[in-house]
Amino acid sequence: MATALEELPTLFHKYGVAKNVLGKLILWNGDITRIKVDAIVNAANSRLAGGGGVDGAIHRAAGHATLQEECRKYSGCKVGKAVITSGCGINHIKNIIHTVGPQVYGKLSEKHRDDLISCYRSSLELAVENKLSSIAFCCISTGVYGYPHNAAAEAVTDFLTNWLENDQNKDQISHVVLVTFMPVDQQCYEKYFDEFAAKF
Ligand code: ADP
Repeated sequence: MATALEELPTLFHKYGVAKNVLGKLILWNGDITRIKVDAIVNAANSRLAGGGGVDGAIHRAAGHATLQEECRKYSGCKVGKAVITSGCGINHIKNIIHTVGPQVYGKLSEKHRDDLISCYRSSLELAVENKLSSIAFCCISTGVYGYPHNAAAEAVTDFLTNWLENDQNKDQISHVVLVTFMPVDQQCYEKYFDEFAAKF
């Protein structure tokens, strides 16, 4: 059974402040292929070839051959960019957005942060372009690509709260679900949303 958006409380329910931003945000722990939204965001590799982790789970749910066929129309995807395919029948979602996160080996740099944020921005832009209003993100780059969990949650919370408050297309997005899979990601997000909410 897939989880419907309506079953999930937004962060406004928890904090009671900043409804324009937190009223659109949901923190959910689970398998991204089990949620009903307009689009899910895959942490793909630059060849769009399918792989392990969340990419593997999405390919399995979509049917590897079906999704590979759709990905072949793109000649890969660069770090920080995103491409879109159909939902391949996963939970009646409309689309899968594939983005390529930065790989962090060694010291975390400003460029890594910019690239990570660019993944989230490019994915939201594609959602807007394709008239999709609800979008679920996995924790891009925090698996085998090695982005530190805490730094990723800090960068993503900062970017998303700003985007939902200020972007010219913010009204087109009704919900953003942050899907955590590892408890550590959930804890990191909770810490930064606590800090965000405390400012009000
Ligand atoms: P990356 O190469 O971008 O690090 P990974 O797939 O290794 O990609 O991990 C990205 C994130 O996706 C990690 O936080 C991992 O815990 C999470 N993840 C793995 N499987 C799933 C899944 N089925 N649903 C949601 N998130 C998942």
